[in-house]
Amino acid sequence: MSDPAHELLAWFRTRQRAVPGRREADPYRIWVAEVMAQQTRIQTVAPYYDSFLERFPDIAALAASSLDDVLKAWEGLGYYGRARNLHRAARELMRDYGGRLPEDPARLRALPGIGPYTAGALASIAFGRPEPAVDGNVRRVLSRLRDLEAPSPPVLDALARSLIADADGEAGPLNQALMDLGSSVCTPRSPRCPDCPVSASCLSLERGTVSLRPGRRPRRELPHHDIGAALVWRGSMLLIARRPEDGLLGGLWEFPGGKVETGESPAEAARREVREELDVETEILRPADTVRHAYSHFRITLHLFHARWVSGGPPLAAGPADSPRWVRPDELVLYAFPAANRAIIRRLSRAEEAPHRHPGQA
Ligand code: SF4
Repeated sequence: MSDPAHELLAWFRTRQRAVPGRREADPYRIWVAEVMAQQTRIQTVAPYYDSFLERFPDIAALAASSLDDVLKAWEGLGYYGRARNLHRAARELMRDYGGRLPEDPARLRALPGIGPYTAGALASIAFGRPEPAVDGNVRRVLSRLRDLEAPSPPVLDALARSLIADADGEAGPLNQALMDLGSSVCTPRSPRCPDCPVSASCLSLERGTVSLRPGRRPRRELPHHDIGAALVWRGSMLLIARRPEDGLLGGLWEFPGGKVETGESPAEAARREVREELDVETEILRPADTVRHAYSHFRITLHLFHARWVSGGPPLAAGPADSPRWVRPDELVLYAFPAANRAIIRRLSRAEEAPHRHPGQA
């Protein structure tokens, strides 16, 4: 008789992949790996994982760091809410748990940024608790194993729990085996069923419904916004501002600007936003760049303009954390910016867009 739990465990032991956090015993390092792997491919995560842990080797170091430092270390991974939540959770752990992660899944779920999946992954992998951890890969494997079109989260949890119950106390390896199987063998298109350790138990394979399971979730059409923003030059210095911590892309720095209103041009929007948000008067000079970028819940077209400072705003010599502030172009790399700004920052830092090329410079 087939025994999927033991077949999964045996398969997992033979092919442990070099996945960040996989060979770790330290719950903190497993936590960082799990958070980084959410919404980001493993190949992308690997270099960030090592440098992040070098920079913040434990919960105490992460909690003692500034949010700016944490966001800078995260820059390029995207979904910055994950970094903000890690930082906030580390501070809660220092305050309430003596700098250690709790083992209880309910307490884990009460921490910022830890949902049911991450709590289950941590409880099972770091602490050996018999908890399910159902991500998109595991959902696909379980749906195919039981030939279910659209199983609800409680149904998926119950299926995972029944496998864990047969895993002789190896909840962590069992969960990891399911995750690995989904990402490497039971893939969305072209699953490699002949190589699958649980093919003998797979109802979708038996019934010929593999390509139909699970059913497609309807795609959402993402809203689109035009954003007007300005590279405000004051001599050779540029104006940057920090976004509020609790909003979208919170805590990141940006070139000031905002949404283009109906009946307004992007240049007018840039000038208006800089005036309204920062009390800075500018003269828009010429277009600098147009960047299209898709975030998780919307798409933007960012229209950037070179502009000349006229009046208002912060003094030229501000403290390092003050916002807004004036910086030299080669200092921009020290600040964490949203992805849409990165190409223009590279050019500005290399002085390809030197201020002397701008008409109207002081
Ligand atoms: S037999 Fe195929 S469809 Fe079934 S779990 Fe394995 S890879 Fe997925």
